Amino acid sequence: MLSLRLKSLKAYNTETSKAKIKLSSNELPYELPDYLKTRIAQEISKIPLNRYPDPLCAELKEVLADFFGIKESNILLGNGSDELIYYISTAVGELNEAVLIPVPTFPMYEIISRTLGRPRIEVLLKEDFDLDLEKILEVFKERKPILAYFSFPNNPTGNLFSKEKIERIRSEGLFAVLDEAYYHYSGNTFLKDALEREDTVVLRTLSKIGLAGLRIGILIGKEEIIKELDKIRLPFNITYPSQVAAVLILREGREFIEQSIKKVVSERQRVYFELQNIKGVEVFPSKANFILFRTPYPASFVHEELLKRGVLIRNMSYLPGLERCLRVSIGKEEENDAFLEALSEVIK
Ligand code: PMP
Repeated sequence: MLSLRLKSLKAYNTETSKAKIKLSSNELPYELPDYLKTRIAQEISKIPLNRYPDPLCAELKEVLADFFGIKESNILLGNGSDELIYYISTAVGELNEAVLIPVPTFPMYEIISRTLGRPRIEVLLKEDFDLDLEKILEVFKERKPILAYFSFPNNPTGNLFSKEKIERIRSEGLFAVLDEAYYHYSGNTFLKDALEREDTVVLRTLSKIGLAGLRIGILIGKEEIIKELDKIRLPFNITYPSQVAAVLILREGREFIEQSIKKVVSERQRVYFELQNIKGVEVFPSKANFILFRTPYPASFVHEELLKRGVLIRNMSYLPGLERCLRVSIGKEEENDAFLEALSEVIK
């Protein structure tokens, strides 16, 4: 009785191999300091777990509004931004209207569109991984997409698409989602547009700045848009412990988060430079907390050889245009050193 749509789907392939050094999921490599862990334990022990959490997440929204410099009414929360992508894909346009997805990119845009049976228009990025404006505008002549996902910066290529091109594409009259999961590593944003325009929203997440385990995604948009999208949100989508822990960490752990981001950005620079020095490796510049690179060998070979040496990264060669490419998340200094050493050995 399951739908044909479902039969043709492949589950999102998360990397589950065990390794001493895990640089595969673009997480923050640093754990919370002990004083924060103790505070979290104290606060979580006070939660009445027999009760549902606050469905409105009022306190968390208040803290997030302060963190992002916006108003609570501009926020919709999701169990990770994945859930918000689901909501947007369900709510924007009719289900028979197409979704524009520049590829290669974060696979959830495609998977969720497929799940909903929505037509997709996937347009390959140019060789420099920027948007192919001509090809995208060409698409509009045949079939008008109503919704577009722009990963900004783009996962897994690491670059920021040209803002002017995004604006030009949006001016054709579609709803633009700027997925800024890696905002804290790029500093570039469409936040102002999201607060002023009805055709633009921004996605942020706490997953890349140290709190992936809490599953908190943030959609930012005009109050009118948030109110409409909120109609399809599942009632208690942010768990009680997640709400309590996130509030506490954003109140008492800002210094930790800010210092961690700085360290990752500085390590990104170093890893980029070191990768460039490994003969045969082609490295792509990154505005995120990961780096994409290509080697002369099959990516599965490099992936396996690194794993044998205790380092887990992500094979990206299954995505269009990314033959022989792998993606490494920026880790702690010693983890990055171990990765670079292992890669030099494998490439030799
Ligand atoms: N968007 C992009 C571009 C991502 O790379 C990721 C995580 N890999 C997500 C969204 C999902 O993040 P979350 O943990 O908030 O669901």
